[in-house]
Formats: sequence, structure tokens, C-alpha cells
Amino acid sequence: MTKAARKILIVEDEPKIASLLKDYLETRGAFETRVEARGDTAMEAFKKFGPDLVLLDLMLPGMDGMEVCKKLRSVSTVPIIMVTARVEEIDRLLGLELGADDYICKPFSPREVVARVKAVLRRSGPGVSAQRPKALHMDEEKFKATLNGNDLLLTPVEFALLRTLSAQEGRVFSRDQLMNEMYPDYRVVSDRAVDTHIKNLRKKISDTSGSEDMIKSVYGLGYRYEG
Ligand code: CA
Repeated sequence: MTKAARKILIVEDEPKIASLLKDYLETRGAFETRVEARGDTAMEAFKKFGPDLVLLDLMLPGMDGMEVCKKLRSVSTVPIIMVTARVEEIDRLLGLELGADDYICKPFSPREVVARVKAVLRRSGPGVSAQRPKALHMDEEKFKATLNGNDLLLTPVEFALLRTLSAQEGRVFSRDQLMNEMYPDYRVVSDRAVDTHIKNLRKKISDTSGSEDMIKSVYGLGYRYEG
């Protein structure tokens, strides 16, 4: 059985680098590639090509890589590797929380790029595509939640709520059940408190993933999680 080749969109304005990347990704990685030389046309190319990963140069004519990254993130969870000319740039980019999955600094070896592309694709799971399901990870020891690799900054109550709901995907939880999880000390709180926390949680999820909420209201019953 032959699998369709994974598609990589290379957004790079330096023809020599673009063709080097293209050659390596096609021959060493068996990827299908497309090169886009401008930032302001990258979104259009992304929509047409439907890549599994985007290699995105920072300095581009038309629109810089940071803007392109933000635009991509507003419509897609596609893995993005940013390519920068200076290593000092990487710290700054990380601080901006653009949502890129990895960073590569020029000059790079094409072999390294292929390895990083494969690693990012592996991390984002099998059969990755722009519409892959959202990946939620909750680390109870570190009290840390990430969605698609982006940190979800949750309050303890929101963390408990999301952990309860996501542990049994699809199951409907009543407000009472959720309250017991949120406040194990049997504190008496109003039903409204659950709704307020759910509302805040949904906002954080949609701000992080840029997608529809994963917590569904079930009329007259409560809530359920759909990842
Ligand atoms: Ca450039």
C-alpha cells in the first residue's frame, strides 16, 4: 500500500536555499513540496496546496514570516517551522508566542532540516493534516495543560474541570458532578459558578487553538467534552 506523500510548503525568497530545501525534502524525505517566494501570497499557496507542514522563512518580501505565522495560526493548526537568519532572533520569536512548532537557524544543513521536519511531523501524530484533531495534554504533576503544543494557562478549578471532562470524552457530566470535582471539600456553590468557569475555559481553549470550543453544552443536563 502506498501512502500519499506528505506535503511541505516552503516559504523562502532566496532561490538557492529554496531549491536546496526542495531537493532534499523530495529526495531524502520523499515529501511533496511547493515553494512560495513571497510572504503576502503564502496564505493563498497554503490554501491551494494544503500542506502537512510549513517551513517559513522570517524575512520575506510582501509580508514577514511573523505575520504569515499569525495568519496561518488563525486558520490552522498545521505544524510550522520558522527559519531565521540569526540565532538571537529565536528568543525574541519564542517570546512573541507565534505558535510555531520549531525554529531553525541559517545557515543550516539540509540534512538537519529534513530531520527536524520529520520530528515535528512525528510529534504532531500520524495522518497529520491541517484539520487534524486537537491534541490536549494534561500533566497533573506539573499542573500544566497544553493544546496543540501551546500552553493553556488554567486556574486550578479550570484545570480540574478540563481534566474531568476530557478523561471521559463524550460522557455528559451534570453541573453537580462537575462541582464535586472542582470543589472536593463539598463547598456549597451555585450552579452558575460551573457555567462561569466553563465559559472562561472555553475562551482560553479557543484563544489557544483558534478553533471551536471542545466543551459542548448538553441542554438540561450539563456538559461534555469532544476533543
Ligand atoms: Ca529571506
